[in-house]
Amino acid sequence: MTQIFRADNFSAGPAGLPLAVLEKAQAELLNWQNMGTSVMEISHRSPEFIALAETAEANLRELMAIPENYKVLFLQGGARLQFSAVPLNLFGKNAKANYIDTGAWSNGAIEEAKRYGTVHLAGSLIDSADEIRVPNQNELNIDETASYLHYCPNETISGVAFDYVPNTDIPVVADMSSCILSEQIDVSKFGLIYAGAQKNIGPAGLTLVIVRDDLLNQALPHCPSIMNYHNQATKDSMLNTPPTYSWYLAGLVFEWLKEQGGVAAIQAINQQKADLLYDYIDSSDFYQNNIAKTSRSKMNVSFSLVNNQADDALNEAFLTQAKARNLLFLKGHRSVGGMRASIYNAVSLESVQRLLEFMEVFKNNQ
Ligand SMILES: *Cc1c(COP(=O)(O)O)cnc(C)c1O
Repeated sequence: MTQIFRADNFSAGPAGLPLAVLEKAQAELLNWQNMGTSVMEISHRSPEFIALAETAEANLRELMAIPENYKVLFLQGGARLQFSAVPLNLFGKNAKANYIDTGAWSNGAIEEAKRYGTVHLAGSLIDSADEIRVPNQNELNIDETASYLHYCPNETISGVAFDYVPNTDIPVVADMSSCILSEQIDVSKFGLIYAGAQKNIGPAGLTLVIVRDDLLNQALPHCPSIMNYHNQATKDSMLNTPPTYSWYLAGLVFEWLKEQGGVAAIQAINQQKADLLYDYIDSSDFYQNNIAKTSRSKMNVSFSLVNNQADDALNEAFLTQAKARNLLFLKGHRSVGGMRASIYNAVSLESVQRLLEFMEVFKNNQ
């Protein structure tokens, strides 16, 4: 058998998918379940597609141990539409909510929420000369009379992450776009979890919302019906035509994850991958990551070439030589600069090892 060429893909999103998933999708592209059509060519209301949807949901529930009093919605519009949908559904009568601001994505959610009510800033990133970290629980100032607390457990752009779930009596809402399914979590600690699919779930076009039953019926009157959680839950996420092919691929990813041993098993590999990278960066005098150890993302590892942040030529050389070795998309987000290796579930330990080999060679050649 000829070996298929696959690069080591460190894209932040849309991100790489497991090869086994793509091969399965390829094999059944033209003739899915012996229907003589692809899955994207059939009605979302056909019994075949409804069975697919139910299996995908059941597998996700099993993987995340989602309690029965939570609904799982398969929606569109990306995480960004949830920046609006969350306040429109959960603000309730007092139209006030807590937000923790730890970076670009939580900040984006804050800006959107302000259009609909009052945002109480419950905490911010600590970004001083000697440390960059998320606020601790005792540094949070949560208004318990507000409707909910929103935060982003993993800030994809800067590579800053929470190592705890904020504790409060009001519902906790989390944007888990870049960390869902990467480690075990206790869903019952959250009122609502949302995630765009294109990092750890599947291709773009699908957004997952996991929402506790009692939060379904609070939408503001002007909330568009397509964004209304209650409506979507009643219609099994099929108020309109859902992104069927993305849903199908997400289902394949859930099956793949189960074959890997579930979230606990993938978490162990993710930890190994992150440890390898951070240990190497910390031990080197050439690469640097200045985020406090307790606030480092295990999904998005940002680093810079020491003392050369402004040295565009060196950064370019790093990226060009990495690409020549088929190590792709290591450039940091334009707002941060430097480098970023996104190491989601589909990125293998071997990919990370090849990146480390290259980093060592590159360093030694300077
Ligand atoms: C990628 C990302 C988003 C934006 O997702 P879209 O699906 O493009 O709207 C929001 N939040 C986080 C944490 C992300 O990583």
